[in-house]
Amino acid sequence: MSLTTETQQFVNRFTRELPADPITENFSRQVQHSAYSRVQPEKVSSPALVGVNQALAISLGFGKFLEDPARLALILSGNELLEGMSPYAMAYGGHQFGSWAGQLGDGRAINLGELRDSEGRFQTLQLKGAGPTPYSRHADGRAVLRSSLREYLCSEAMFALGVPTTRALSLVTSGDKVVRDMFYDGNPQAEPGAIVCRVSPSFVRFGSFELPAARGDVELLQKLVRFVIRSDWPDLASRLAAANSDAKTKQVYLDWFSRICALSQEMVIHWMRVGFVHGVMNTDNMSVLGLTIDYGPYGWVDDYDPDWTPNTTDAGQRRYRFGQQPAIVRWNLYQLANAIYPLVQDAEALQSILQTLPETYERSYHRMMCSKLGIDDTLPLSAELIRVLPTVLTSQPTDMTLFFRSLANFDVNTDAALSDCVASAFYGDQGLLEANYELYRMWEEKYRLCLRNSSGGQLRIQIMNEVNPRYVPRNYLAQQAIEAMENGDPEVFSSLLTVLSKPYDEQPENLQRFGQKRPDWASNKPGCSMLSCSS
Ligand code: AMP
Ligand code: MG
Repeated sequence: MSLTTETQQFVNRFTRELPADPITENFSRQVQHSAYSRVQPEKVSSPALVGVNQALAISLGFGKFLEDPARLALILSGNELLEGMSPYAMAYGGHQFGSWAGQLGDGRAINLGELRDSEGRFQTLQLKGAGPTPYSRHADGRAVLRSSLREYLCSEAMFALGVPTTRALSLVTSGDKVVRDMFYDGNPQAEPGAIVCRVSPSFVRFGSFELPAARGDVELLQKLVRFVIRSDWPDLASRLAAANSDAKTKQVYLDWFSRICALSQEMVIHWMRVGFVHGVMNTDNMSVLGLTIDYGPYGWVDDYDPDWTPNTTDAGQRRYRFGQQPAIVRWNLYQLANAIYPLVQDAEALQSILQTLPETYERSYHRMMCSKLGIDDTLPLSAELIRVLPTVLTSQPTDMTLFFRSLANFDVNTDAALSDCVASAFYGDQGLLEANYELYRMWEEKYRLCLRNSSGGQLRIQIMNEVNPRYVPRNYLAQQAIEAMENGDPEVFSSLLTVLSKPYDEQPENLQRFGQKRPDWASNKPGCSMLSCSS
């Protein structure tokens, strides 16, 4: 890999174009009429680089630092600022678990600045865990190693899986301890602290618009909406600039909202495709660009279960369970519609966009599921096949990833039973339970019919293997990487990253262990199937 030597040009459109908090001291407070507050990262005692994404570093013009990890650790912990960096924390609010929570904001995230990557795209660099900000409330502004490693690992895995996501540039341990009560049960522990540098074209969230809207600050709301359109939607931006009537301006806002709806739903379709459960789909964790953001108590579906949530904080309500994510993204889009209503002043127009969402989702979901099954989405029988599939998959514990991946090997030209083909996906060692023979036989019959009438031919296996991953960052694997890293061994983490950078490919023998279904010991282990928001 060749290293570049160019210097970064920070452009910092957000801070240049939007109103700043006039107060510059760093203390917790309500911040009015401002999109952000300027704040300096608080230095950490001994930053050490334990992970860096080389390709991303090079594309951001950081290639020249790769040979000097100590310097890179200084920069990516916030201990050293580069010329042109202009650190700030963003103001936003949000609905948390269904209720309006008021001002939240970047309580432990500090944006360093915005630059263009090697392809000319704008990217903002953001440190997570770099110290307190005016939005920290009573918390410390820090992050622990376990949650930081999980964020780095999962966002990079998602990227390689083709799921829209923010990226992770680096993982730096701080050398400082951070105290967390992991299960909120009165057992606080001092844990190693860390900082992830996240990268995204935008860190604006639904909650960024909700906060000024809730405060009746239409002026700030409008500035923010117009800024976001100018920054991220060039075609809409030119229409906005040319709009010479209120009606035309309003139409641009509505089209922009439609685009956000489409991107957000597409993101969730991808989550359903790969078995990802975000765990905290609060509106402050919803990116305006439809990128997966804020990796907290997320989880990956092992045995297929639409009711599963990894988040113990949500165990009672299960609001953010796997199968509910499509409904929740729509609920969140309703909140965004409410937030921008003062600019549009047309409830009917917003409603009519929102009303199309279930149908658009269903159509996309159908197409996606047909691609996972390797069948044509126009077959009349395909809808029935997909409708019954959850019953098949939940009839006994069945690994979602292995089930779909195995389907590519199902050969309709032989009599070999489907249940034998997917046998590696069954949990427990008894194979297909007798009680499920009939269910499998019926589903298999329909599946054979669909396959025979589909046009995939020789390409079917290849196409299926491009949508059904072989490797995902299973919860227990992330936990193994964390435990090894906390004991000073980065090998599990780096091997796992290597595997997850090519999640659709078969791997050499020494890495195949990362493709195994969840072992028994991980079923009820904290970190493996149960996670809290404590991070
Ligand atoms: P999350 O649940 O991680 O999306 O966070 C919700 C809100 O709490 C956001 O405003 C975060 O910035 C804030 N927050 C979470 N953890 C901390 C922390 N350790 N210090 C300060 N703010 C935090
Ligand atoms: Mg958040």
